[in-house]
Amino acid sequence: MISKHLLALGILGITGQLAFPVMAQDNLPRLMPDDLFRRNIGTQGQLDTPFEPHHIIDNIYYVGTQSLASFLITTDAGHILVNSCFERNVPTIRNSVEQLGFDFNDIEIIIGSHEHGDHMQGDALAKEISGAEVIVMAEQVPGLAHMRPGDKPHPIDQVIIDGDQVILGNESLTAHLTPGHSDGCTSWELTVSEGGRDYKVVIICSVGVNPNYQLWNNPERPGIVEQYEYSYAKLRGISADIPLGSHPTMYRLEEKFALIGGETNPFIDPEGYLYEIDINEQAMRLRLEEQRIAAESE
Ligand SMILES: [Zn+2]
Repeated sequence: MISKHLLALGILGITGQLAFPVMAQDNLPRLMPDDLFRRNIGTQGQLDTPFEPHHIIDNIYYVGTQSLASFLITTDAGHILVNSCFERNVPTIRNSVEQLGFDFNDIEIIIGSHEHGDHMQGDALAKEISGAEVIVMAEQVPGLAHMRPGDKPHPIDQVIIDGDQVILGNESLTAHLTPGHSDGCTSWELTVSEGGRDYKVVIICSVGVNPNYQLWNNPERPGIVEQYEYSYAKLRGISADIPLGSHPTMYRLEEKFALIGGETNPFIDPEGYLYEIDINEQAMRLRLEEQRIAAESE
């Protein structure tokens, strides 16, 4: 199936925005962008209800809500917070950090998945409380300029580019620009170890298509389809052992949470990583085809 996708990427790469026949995906359920969006966001209540904070692997912990993921990565020189979520979620995240026995004030660096309110709106408040530095991807900057909860400007202490590393103490995360969902969508890669083995972790930014996205002939984002294609290929090239994501359903947290404490760490799931890319690519192509047909019948 993956090779079929790579072939598909090749075809579209040559023909640009030409019509692309949606291929039969033998073992993928036919989920549309709206299905995946609903899967990610959940209910209004889930956005704000904490998910039980827990240890994922090595120095990575979950401190987010039922539908908005936030991760604490601990180091010998303080901690890194990935995703402050909505500003109203910051007290919940802080509670979760403390429940795990860590101090929110020890957070030294705040980074985020992408420049949408549900992942990075809380940066200003989280920085105010912890004094952490906010490090952002260059392509996130324009979107973040509009993110002003309570009219506070979005804090930016350092701007990085694709491939840069964020280093704190003994930890380093690689920032991969994986655009499409947004121009500054960033997937974070780090290596952890457990039981004498190393594992590659990728916090997938999102390769999802929101219900209102125009893929076919979008004058504001003419390269949006190519951005998604670039990101599928780039993420597949990383071959992660442990997928995480900006929404916990992107890596089936609930299911895996129930298996914590078993023989193997349930978060080790390389197939789940590829599935998340495949299912989103299929949805993107179905939507693109839908929009192409609609445009041509006008
Ligand atoms: Zn988003």
